[in-house]
Amino acid sequence: MLAAIEAGGTKFVCAVGDEKGNVVERIQIPTTVPEETMPQVIDFFKKYEIEAIGIGSFGPVDVNKDSATYGYITSTPKPGWKNYPLVQTIKETFPVPIGFNTDVNAAALGEATYGAAKGLDSCLYITVGTGIGAGAIVQGNLLQGLTHPEMGHVLVRRHPEDPYQGRCPFHNDCLEGLAAGPAVEERWGAKGIELVERTEVWELEGYYIAQALMQYILILSPKKIILGGGVMKQKQVFSYVYNYLQQFLNGYVDLPELSSYIVSPGLGDNAGTVGSLLLASQALQGENE
Ligand code: ADP
Ligand code: ZN
Repeated sequence: MLAAIEAGGTKFVCAVGDEKGNVVERIQIPTTVPEETMPQVIDFFKKYEIEAIGIGSFGPVDVNKDSATYGYITSTPKPGWKNYPLVQTIKETFPVPIGFNTDVNAAALGEATYGAAKGLDSCLYITVGTGIGAGAIVQGNLLQGLTHPEMGHVLVRRHPEDPYQGRCPFHNDCLEGLAAGPAVEERWGAKGIELVERTEVWELEGYYIAQALMQYILILSPKKIILGGGVMKQKQVFSYVYNYLQQFLNGYVDLPELSSYIVSPGLGDNAGTVGSLLLASQALQGENE
């Protein structure tokens, strides 16, 4: 039995299943403070014989295995979670192989293995939710350098008629600061779900996302782009993304039909869970090699 932990800023999704992505049981636990959330996470897994655990976490996280703080959540503004030893805490109770990566990297792995990018050795998974983040598969591997990529914080050109100052605590008007769910809510004064009829909301969203996609395409040349997260439940954003991307790229890169190139997650809301099961499976294989 493999365990999956999708550690999100609002909820932890815990599941047990197999390396094929089959889920036996799954629960959600609210992300409050570690002292409250973690005991519930650990309790859930105690009733199973766990062979390995995969964790896809909100970040930034330390994914460098040689680092003294490997397995930590690092510079998050989320109260209680800054410099939190997530992997170490789990390992104290479950001394099994643990695979650890970002939530979006886990989702990218899930989508590349069983989802919209199945069979491709290259894809990009982007979430537009409470934050914006992306994970890339390049030549069959999750892209990692000094640390994991932080593509949600790229700079974009502000729309000339957008006076909103942005809300990233580090950069104000980076992509996340201008286009993540909380920015949409603050700029327009209502929850995303209450703004469905306001086309200008989603057009502006498409304007910013398309700029970021242009940069990702120019730098990484992914074979498929998957746009997930709560905000992308507004399917109308996709057509604005296609239109603006076409306009910005201006024919410079030869892309496939955009509606099949930039898509919703094939695994729906399960991309992160399936990807975390795969991280667990990889950790187990690594241990047995
Ligand atoms: P998280 O990022 O915490 O994993 P989500 O991906 O669900 O969670 O993102 C939550 C954000 O997405 C919130 O800001 C919320 O307002 C927004 N959101 C969720 N559902 C929708 C929807 N159907 N339409 C527009 N915005 C949504
Ligand atoms: Zn930022």
